[in-house]
Order: sequence, then C-alpha cells, then structure tokens
Amino acid sequence: MTPDETSSAGRKTPLASLSPESLSGALAAAGFPRYRAAQVFEWLYRKSARAFSEMKNIGASLREYLEGHFTPLSSTLFAVHDAGDGAAKLEISLGDGVRIESVLIEAEKRLTLCVSSQAGCPLGCAFCATGAGGFERNLLPHEIIEQALHAASLAHGRRISHVVFMGMGEPCLNLDAVFEAIRAFNAPHAFAIGARRITLSTLGFPECIERIAAFPLEVGLALSLHAADDALRKRLCPNVRATVAETIRAARDYFDRTGREVTFEYVLLAGVNDSVAHAAALASALTGSRAFVNLIPYNQSRGLPFKRPSAPKVVGFRRALVARGVNVQVRDSRGAAAGAACGQLRLERKAEIP
Ligand code: SAH
Ligand code: SF4
Repeated sequence: MTPDETSSAGRKTPLASLSPESLSGALAAAGFPRYRAAQVFEWLYRKSARAFSEMKNIGASLREYLEGHFTPLSSTLFAVHDAGDGAAKLEISLGDGVRIESVLIEAEKRLTLCVSSQAGCPLGCAFCATGAGGFERNLLPHEIIEQALHAASLAHGRRISHVVFMGMGEPCLNLDAVFEAIRAFNAPHAFAIGARRITLSTLGFPECIERIAAFPLEVGLALSLHAADDALRKRLCPNVRATVAETIRAARDYFDRTGREVTFEYVLLAGVNDSVAHAAALASALTGSRAFVNLIPYNQSRGLPFKRPSAPKVVGFRRALVARGVNVQVRDSRGAAAGAACGQLRLERKAEIP
C-alpha cells in the first residue's frame, strides 16, 4: 500500500503498512527531511507512542502533516484477559470492527507473541475453536504487525523476543501478507526479531512449504500433523489435502534445501490419538526424518467434544516416542485459564454472547 492509495480512498495510511523508504519518500515529497521517518518509527516501534502528539521531537508542522495523512494504528486494543500464569490474551478490534486475538506469553527469558494471520479460519479442524467459529477474512500485513504493537505496549519495556503464527488462521492461505509481516518483525527499524525466532505453523500444503523454503528469511517451520494415519488426520482436519506421507516428504525436502529442522505439532486428544500404538505409528511414519515433535496436550474449548488426556497418558505417549528415537517435547500450555493458549482462540467469546 502506498500513502496515496489510502489517502485517495479517504482513509489514513497506517504507519505499520510503510517501509522506511516509503515514509521517508512521502515526507521528502511534502518538504520534510527524510531522517524524520526514522524518528517516527522509533516512537512507534521502540517507545510505544500510539498518537502523534506523543512524538515529542518532531515539531508542530510535521505533526500536523502526519495527522492529516497517516494514523499510528488502524486497530484498537479492545480487551486484555490475563490468565494469571504469564499469559495474556489480547482482543483486537480491526478498522472495520472485525475482532481478532493474539496471545502474549511471558517466560523467564522469552517474551513470545502468538499472532493471528486470519480472522477465523476456513479449514475447520474438528478440535479447533478458531475453525469452529468460521472464517471472516484475511488480515492485511499491517493488521498482523499491529498485533505486536499492541502487545509491546503491555510489555512494560520488555522486547518481544519470539513470534509464532499459531493464533487464528492458516498462514498458508494468506502467505503474501504473512511474509510481509515477517519482514517487519525482522526489520531493524521495526521489531528486530531474528528470523529463527519467528515460527510459522501450518497444516502443511506442500506448495506453501516450498514457498517458505524459498523465502529469504530463515524462519522456523512447524507442521500440524496430529495423526500418523490419513483417515484419522482427515477426520480431525477435513480440509487437509496432502497425505501424511506427502507432508513428511515435504518437510524432508525443506530440511534438505534449507538445513532447517521442521517441528511436527501433535495435539493430544484423549481417546482419539493418544495411545502407545498411535505413538508407535507416528515414530514409524517419521523414520528417516530429522524431525522434532511438539506434543500439545489439548486445551479444552467449550462446545467442542474433545478432552485433554491425563498427565500419565501424556507421559506415556512421550516415552513411547523417546523409546523409538524421536526427539520430542511437551509444549507448555500456559494461558488455558483465560482461553488464551495458542490455538484456542475466539470460540469462548462467541459462546459468551447471548
Ligand atoms: N492453522 C495453523 C496455525 C494456527 S493453529 C495450524 O493449524 O497449524 C496453531 C496450533 O494450535 C496447531 O497445531 C493447532 O492444531 C493447535 N490447536 C488448535 N486448537 C487447539 C487447542 N484447543 N488446544 C491445543 N492446540 C490447539
Ligand atoms: Fe485453522 Fe489451524 Fe484451527 Fe485447523 S487448527 S482450523 S488450520 S487455525
């Protein structure tokens, strides 16, 4: 988006939709020094200014020009739900009133933001609250970036260290916008987060995995597998197209091409995919892959029939994988109390609306 495109539409251009070059170009064309662009971005990205009036060193005439053409943010932070365990769910209202959610998770050394790439998700996985809530629309790049701006203003001066695309939506269905947002998360003028600290989670469309492999920034890739046999995976994720074997092959090609290991995500659902036999089938499907498995004990969502397995069951599943030589970790599911665990977004609020 260029400043002209949005101004001519009668709306102001959100700062997060601009590169340093496009903002400094617009400022120069209006008769202001180019270096002012860096100051404006510093206020936005480093000092959490959310209004031009907070940008103290930019002078009245520039402020007036900026207020006439740009807006610091196109979205507003509607509500914050603190889970009390280091996680907080942010409800964000977009310019057109559509609501999305992000989750900020504080651990000792990390401040991880789980972002949404779409409002809702059209893929409708059976256990997923986002999928059950339906699909509204794709997010624009600046709407993804602004989630981090809202989160940064809650972070008490701490910098976001990691970003995971594990909020609402399927990144592969909005990949151009996701790539643009990743560039901003990584860019020195914006969040300066190392590419390896940015992870894209997807149900795994092979052509999308190829595009991620070709993307110049070396981001992490997580593939949602959830089952080693196609019939069960299709029951859980009815819109998945590639088979388990094709997905694992695409991950192997990705590793060969980039040298980056892929993480397989496996949501553990009680009585559905959590037996030792399921673990053995998963280990055998992954034979020959340099795979890392992330087990996610299910976060129960109201209105959906799935349950989280007991702790001993989770341990048994993990042990069965370890015994077969698979690298595995159990993901901590902070935020569950506020319906704020990654991948557990939105349905609770829908249920609360009478
Ligand atoms: N659409 C992408 C990214 C968003 S979902 C994907 O499916 O990968 C991010 C992760 O959260 C996925 O692995 C998804 O299976 C998982 N997830 C969804 N709902 C969940 C829930 N209620 N509890 C635990 N994990 C969940
Ligand atoms: Fe969409 Fe991912 Fe939820 Fe499936 S798990 S419905 S792909 S957000």
